[in-house]
Amino acid sequence: MPMSFGFHSPRQILVLFLGTTLVLLVGLGWFGLRSFERDRAVTAQRVRDQLDNSADLIAAEIRQSLAETEERLTRLSLLPADAVQDAAREYAKGLGQDALVMVFEPEAVRAYPAGRLLYFPALAVAEDLSTQPFAAGEMLEFRSRDYAGAAAYFGDLARAYEGNDEMIRAGALLRLARNQRKAGELNVALLTYQKLADLGSVTVGEWPAELVARHARCDLLQQLGRSTELDLEAQRLMADLHAGRWELTRSAYLHFTAEVKEWIGAAVPLASSNATPVALSLAAGADALWANWQQDRRTQSLSSGRTNIVSHERPVFLLWRGTSDQVVALAAGPKFLEGHIVAPLRSLLERQGVSVLLADGEGRTLVPTATTTGAESESVLRTISDTRLPWMLRVVSTDFEADLAQVSTRGRLLFAGLGFLALLAAAGAYFSARAMSREIEVARLQSDFVAAVSHEFRTPLTSLRQFTDLLADDRASTAADRERYYAALRRSTRRLSHLVENLLDFGRIEADVQGFIREPLRSKEWAERVVAEFRQEVDETGYDIQFEWTGSEEALIQADAAALGRALWNLLDNAVKYSGASRTITVKGEVNGKQLIVSVRDWGIGIPADELRQIFQKFVRGSPRLGHSVKGTGLGLALVDEIVRTHGGEVKVESTVDEGSTFSLILPVLE
Ligand code: ADP
Repeated sequence: MPMSFGFHSPRQILVLFLGTTLVLLVGLGWFGLRSFERDRAVTAQRVRDQLDNSADLIAAEIRQSLAETEERLTRLSLLPADAVQDAAREYAKGLGQDALVMVFEPEAVRAYPAGRLLYFPALAVAEDLSTQPFAAGEMLEFRSRDYAGAAAYFGDLARAYEGNDEMIRAGALLRLARNQRKAGELNVALLTYQKLADLGSVTVGEWPAELVARHARCDLLQQLGRSTELDLEAQRLMADLHAGRWELTRSAYLHFTAEVKEWIGAAVPLASSNATPVALSLAAGADALWANWQQDRRTQSLSSGRTNIVSHERPVFLLWRGTSDQVVALAAGPKFLEGHIVAPLRSLLERQGVSVLLADGEGRTLVPTATTTGAESESVLRTISDTRLPWMLRVVSTDFEADLAQVSTRGRLLFAGLGFLALLAAAGAYFSARAMSREIEVARLQSDFVAAVSHEFRTPLTSLRQFTDLLADDRASTAADRERYYAALRRSTRRLSHLVENLLDFGRIEADVQGFIREPLRSKEWAERVVAEFRQEVDETGYDIQFEWTGSEEALIQADAAALGRALWNLLDNAVKYSGASRTITVKGEVNGKQLIVSVRDWGIGIPADELRQIFQKFVRGSPRLGHSVKGTGLGLALVDEIVRTHGGEVKVESTVDEGSTFSLILPVLE
C-alpha cells in the first residue's frame, strides 16, 4: 500500500519531478534555439550596417574618380585646337581596350587611339581636286570610247606625277585602271589597282585610294573567277575595315562592309569578329554624342554631360566636356569601367570585406564583366539617385559566409554546452528519481514492518491474557492444567522478550551503537543451551530438533553469549516458521581448525535463488509462496548478519526450493 505524504502520492511526486525536469530540458532547448537565431539575426544586421557604410564610402570614391576624369576632359577641351589633338592622343594611350577619346570640331571628328573608331560622324572635307588634268583623257574615254587611247593618256599622266602630286597621280591611276578594264585588259587593270592601293590614304574622290583600289581588285578577281585570291583579299579588306584603317563615314563603312561580306560569304568566320560589337558600340556612341552636340551648339555655348547607352547589345558609357566650338568626349565600355573605376577601389573593397557591382539604369550589370556565380550573400543596393552617379551600385559582403560560419561555430558551442547541461539535468533527474524510489520503497517496508511488529506482539499477548485470565479466575481444575498454563505463559513471555530483544538489537544497530559485551565462551555449551531453550519453546508443536557436534568440544569463541544466542535462536525460529510439513531440524556444530561452523538445517519450503541475497537486508521478506503465510518483521536475518559480522564471522546460506535450507554461522575460534 503506497504511503501518503499528505497532498501527493510518491508516484505523483516522481512524475511531477520528472515532468519539471523535462520542462527544464525543453526550456533549455528553446532558449538555445532562440539564442542561435538571435545571433544570426544580429550578425546579419551588423553585416548590413557595415554594407551601408561601405556603399556610401564606395559611392563617394567613385564620384571622386569620375570627377577627376571629368576634370581631365574639361582641361583637354580648353586647349587650343592645335594642341588638343596631341593631348587627346596622349590621354587615349592609357584607356585600355574598349574606350576611346574623341575631339569634336565644328566640321570634323578625330578619335584616339587611331583605328578604334570604325566610322566617323563627320569627316574633315577633303580639299577639292580640280578635274582639269583628267579632262583630255575623259574626252577620249566618254566621247570617243577610245579606251586604249584614254589608258595611254592616264598612264602618261600617272607617270608624270609620280612622286610629285599624289592626288593627281591617284586620280590618274584610278582612271587608267577603269579604262584598262573597259578595254578588257583585266589582268593589267588588276596591277594598276595594286599601284593605286600602294598610295595609301590619299583620297580619290571622297574615299581613300587604297580602299577604293582594293575594293576594285576584289571586284575584278571575282569577275576573273579567281576565287582563292578573292577570298584572301576580301578577308584582309574586311579585317582592315574592322580595324578602322581608314576614316570613313557611317554610310561608306556600311557600304564597303556589305560588299565585302558578299564576297566572303557568311560561312567564312572573321578573324576580328570578336572585336566588332565593341567597336560598333563605340562608333554608335560617337554618333549619339555628335548628334547631341549638334543640338547643344544651336542652344548654348557649354556642352557637358554623361550617359549610358546600349548599342549592339553592349553598354557604352559616354562622358563629354566642352563648348560649342570644341568638345572632348570619352566613350567607354565595361572593361574601362572595371579598370578605371572599380579597380582603384580594390584595397578599399578588401578592407571593407565587400565586392561591388555596377549596373546601368535598367539594372544591367556592367561590372564585373565576367559573371561570377556567388553563393547567396548579404548585399545593399544604391540607386542612381542615391549615388548621384551614372550607375547603380550593389555592394555585396564577401565576409558574410565567414561571419555565418562563425555564427554556426558559436551555435555549435552553445548547443554542446546546453547538451552537456541537459545531460547533467537528465543524470540528476535519474539519480534523484532512483534515490526517491528507494526512499519510497523503504517507507513502504517500514510501514509493513510496523504492521508486522504489531501483529507479532499481538499473538503472544493474546495467549498471555487468556492464560492469565484462566489462572486468575482459578479455572484450572487440575495441577497438570495449571502446569500447562504456566508453560504457555512462559513461552509467550519468552517470545515477547525475544521480540523485544530483537527490536532493541535493531535499534542499537540503526543507532550504530553495538553495546555487545564479548567474553570467551565455550562454544558447544553455548550452542547446546540455546538449542535446549528452543526445544522447550517448540516442545508442544512436535518439532524434532537434533543436535550434533564434531571437533573440539572445548573450543572457545570471543562472544556476547546473549546476542549470539539471539542470532542462533532467530535461525531456529525461521527453520520452524518455514518448515512447511517437515518437523525435523538439525543443528550441527563443527570446530574445524580456527573456525566454528554452527549450521541450522531444515527440510522446509526453501528459498528461490534470486532471493538469497536480499533476505539479509532489513525489512525484506521472502515472496509469499505456497505455505508461506507466516508472519514476520523481515528483521531476523538482518540482525543475524549484523551480530555475526560484529563477531568477526559471517553467515552463509544454501537452499533449494521445496527441499529446505541450511544457514551457517561461521565464527573464529579462540587460540
Ligand atoms: P521474517 O522471518 O520475519 O520474514 P527474516 O529476516 O528472518 O524475516 O527472514 C527473511 C526471509 O527469508 C523470510 O521472509 C523468508 O522468506 C526467508 N527465510 C528465512 N529463513 C528461511 C528458511 N529457513 N526457510 C525458508 N525461507 C527462509
